[in-house]
Amino acid sequence: MSEKERIVTIDEKIYKNKEHILRFLADELGFPAYFGMNYDALSDCLGDICSPTTLRFIQDEEGVRSECVQMTLQIAGNVAEWNPDLNVEIVFRTEQTGSQTEETEPLPVDSEPLSAEQALQRLEEGNRNYLRSEIGLGDISMDLRRETAEQGQKPYAIIITCSDSRVIPEYIFSAGIGELFVIRVAGNVLDNHQLGSIEYAAEHLGTKLVVMLGHTRCGAVSSAIAGHSGGFIDYILKDINEAIGGEKDDYRASCLNIRHGVDQIRRELMIHPIKDSRQIKVVGAIYHVEDGSVEFLKED
Ligand SMILES: [Zn+2]
Repeated sequence: MSEKERIVTIDEKIYKNKEHILRFLADELGFPAYFGMNYDALSDCLGDICSPTTLRFIQDEEGVRSECVQMTLQIAGNVAEWNPDLNVEIVFRTEQTGSQTEETEPLPVDSEPLSAEQALQRLEEGNRNYLRSEIGLGDISMDLRRETAEQGQKPYAIIITCSDSRVIPEYIFSAGIGELFVIRVAGNVLDNHQLGSIEYAAEHLGTKLVVMLGHTRCGAVSSAIAGHSGGFIDYILKDINEAIGGEKDDYRASCLNIRHGVDQIRRELMIHPIKDSRQIKVVGAIYHVEDGSVEFLKED
């Protein structure tokens, strides 16, 4: 392949939504940032430079969904900074093609639940997509709303995390409707209600992966470190203090709080990677609010 040819792969999640496609193309093809942020302008520009086939695809992505397996986008025109001689081959991934779906397989609603390992890979992949995105990538389409309303939910991961408004699990893992069973409480502490929720998803929805997701710069953790007290918040701070002991460093204290939660889930629910016949896995992870990355904590 010459330097002027590139293959751009678009997976199903992106090409379900026009804005996702435009944003993705802007990133992949190095369009000026202005166009990447302005969908109408980018759409007009693509209209000017793309072949009619591609334009139709962009305007009518729903209609070509099942048949559009491979397409060549010929960029023509006089837009110098886009390298007008560039040939871009766009490969669309669909469920039907099979061979091209090895990296991010969409989860059909009627499939068997993912294994804990598959679910973990899915979350890691979702976070990688989130890191390079400025919009949510989860599927919240009307089709999926209807599908999950009729067929029920089969979330592949249970996420216990903080109520902090900067920590949004569905965004962080590029997940949509029906994918994550989320439990949120300030400081991601656990009480009977939270344990009951985990138990429900594990036993009745078949979810195999439990993620205790703490985060950096957690107000609850720093309040516990600072020894603040008052009202009902005391119940939360007491649990965090028990978890972190005398640790004064925010990051290390958050990690201790996460590990404490992981141990509690394993102990209270008798979920253990080896002992548990349902093959449920409990892992700890910390979300970095500074850059959006998720660090999965290693086992001790
Ligand atoms: Zn927090």
